[in-house]
Amino acid sequence: MEKKYKKKVLVVGAGLGGATIARILSENNLKVQVIDQRNHIAGNIFDLVNKHNERIHKYGPHLLHCRKDSEALTFLSRFTKWVKYEHRVRALLENGITTPLPVNKSTLEEVFKKSFQNENQTKEFLESIRNKKLIPKNTDELFESSVGEELSNIFFRPYTKKMWGIDPKELAISVGSRLPVRTSNDDRYFNDEFQALPKNGYTEMVKNMLDHKNIEINLNTPFIKGMEENYFHSFLSIPIDEYFNFKFGNLPYRSIIFEQRLEKGNDQEVPVINFTDNSIYTRKTQWNLLPNSYNFKGQFKTITYEKPCSMEINPGEYYYPVNTNDSKKIFLNYENLAKKDNSITFIGRTGLFKYIDMIPAVQIHINLSKKFLKKINL
Ligand code: UDP
Repeated sequence: MEKKYKKKVLVVGAGLGGATIARILSENNLKVQVIDQRNHIAGNIFDLVNKHNERIHKYGPHLLHCRKDSEALTFLSRFTKWVKYEHRVRALLENGITTPLPVNKSTLEEVFKKSFQNENQTKEFLESIRNKKLIPKNTDELFESSVGEELSNIFFRPYTKKMWGIDPKELAISVGSRLPVRTSNDDRYFNDEFQALPKNGYTEMVKNMLDHKNIEINLNTPFIKGMEENYFHSFLSIPIDEYFNFKFGNLPYRSIIFEQRLEKGNDQEVPVINFTDNSIYTRKTQWNLLPNSYNFKGQFKTITYEKPCSMEINPGEYYYPVNTNDSKKIFLNYENLAKKDNSITFIGRTGLFKYIDMIPAVQIHINLSKKFLKKINL
């Protein structure tokens, strides 16, 4: 490649992180070249409307939630309108009934065949079953300390084992702490005050982010090592371990196979049902129940079943960075090595080896953009 690009910045990956950086830099008069190996923008938040008018999130359900005063939300709101949506999930138990998840008052009543008069009674009961003495150091201990043995064995251990392919004892506490435990009747999946979906989908939102005269996009274009030398700076949403030839070892990821089925019959009680059993599936999503999936046509509803698997089974499809003590150490080695090169910045889930929600992801990339602009005095 010729040196003529030297004034341009390269962003590898047109997902949420890459699009955030590309937009901010382009608005500061930098010319940005975005490339992506996939044939579409929006990375893992890519969604599409199928012929039955169902909006499908190709890489699994993505739900947006945050504080109302979030800087990342203000940023994203420039590129989309929102439809209010408070996500609800139910867990399917062995006996065929479903209960709210996260665990709340009715989950406890259903599982323990009890009836609580008020929240205080529920709290007292929860206190009596959880392991109060334990100071949790991993996800398994967190389950044990927050809901006790019986609920851990029903709702969390089997699901976590199939989701991650390892014992929850090996997983960092941050994985298990994503889910609250409640003693109220609140059955929403998230606590946040702002919960919504982009009115016309995530892909449209990312398209608007990338729609700037200073941004050029090339899809179907994989990153090839050496490309970065032709740019003034490169932001790389690529696996950091691969970039450094796995010098310090492989960073572990869990992949997912999405199985789409067309099903007749009754609607699910809520858009997502989690499976507590030892089957190969973690959850299923009925897309037409989401409020930005308008005017569903036909009798058959698309239901996506998620089947977690190893990277060997689904090569190149990086979904969940597996956070363990060992992987943290490996990543730190790569991060330190990357810091020595001033002309590249790793971004995205595989560059930063981070399992985070969309709003924190946008915030991290806003911060990286600001830091970069400051460094080059813009
Ligand atoms: N989890 C679980 N049972 C469930 C739902 C979640 O044990 O029914 C645990 C599991 O370890 C999972 C983690 O909580 O990986 C985070 O769940 P979340 O729904 O936030 O995962 P994501 O939507 O990111 O896949």
